[in-house]
Amino acid sequence: VEIIESIEALWAARRGVGGRLGLVPTMGALHAGHLALVERARAESDVVWVTIFVNPLQFGPREDLSRYPRDLEGDLAKLAAAGVDLVFTPPLEAIYPPDFSTRVEVHGITARLEGERRPGHFVGVATVVTKLFALTQPHRAYFGKKDAQQLRVIRRLTRDLGFPIEIVPVATVREPDGLALSSRNLYLDPAERRAATALSRALHAARAAWLAGERGGEALRNTMWSVLEAEPLARIDYVSVADDATLEECARLTGPAVASLAVFIGATRLIDNVRLADDEPDPFAGAALATHQS
Ligand code: AMP
Repeated sequence: VEIIESIEALWAARRGVGGRLGLVPTMGALHAGHLALVERARAESDVVWVTIFVNPLQFGPREDLSRYPRDLEGDLAKLAAAGVDLVFTPPLEAIYPPDFSTRVEVHGITARLEGERRPGHFVGVATVVTKLFALTQPHRAYFGKKDAQQLRVIRRLTRDLGFPIEIVPVATVREPDGLALSSRNLYLDPAERRAATALSRALHAARAAWLAGERGGEALRNTMWSVLEAEPLARIDYVSVADDATLEECARLTGPAVASLAVFIGATRLIDNVRLADDEPDPFAGAALATHQS
């Protein structure tokens, strides 16, 4: 696997690409969720590039930028084993030179949920993804459904700005007990790790109610709320059942929706979601969901 740090070297590498290029942008500390994106890219592309860049612009002043997990050596070993052709690991100044002055702002769908709780987050995401798209010019780019709002923001900016890039969503990879894989799971101590199953248990309960015919937004939000409230180590940031396209909260579900939540487990903020739609495969297939609280 070729490792590149400078923009000039990346341009040169891009000129040498023959065939279809698949891009997987990440912040490193790679786990099986990231590798699922890589695997999908590998299956659909002639050349696979991964970027590893912990993007300061998408972290708030009181967030975990300085302690965000980093493991470049481990990441590179995993990516080499996964058949990745090139890894772009730019230093901060390559992405943000000192007088960097440009921002990409997606309006509307960023007003709620993560965008509301994390002011500036999606400007950071949209700006870095736009720069990575411009630098790498992939045919396809792979993003996890785990970050449901991010996926919608990236689809929107890709269409709005006219990037000739296909955005490919990839199903959330979960631990056997249902917990969505996340680099931030590394922060959890053993008791918190057990408590963290409350997120997937809440989503599972909402999906079960939806499958049983419940279409009331408030009823579905309450279902999630009561599972989370029963977990002493969990503090709810938000619980949402929103329209799949607009992310507006649903009073009644008349079409595809997305149930999502953000929950502090101790000091660690975790997010997860499930799409409530007839065409969505069971996100918990094969999971042995924990039924007890810690
Ligand atoms: P991050 O390194 O957290 O910025 O994530 C990089 C990409 O991996 C994003 O597109 C995420 O949505 C995706 N991702 C993170 N966790 C998972 C997971 N458990 N399953 C699938 N994709 C994931």
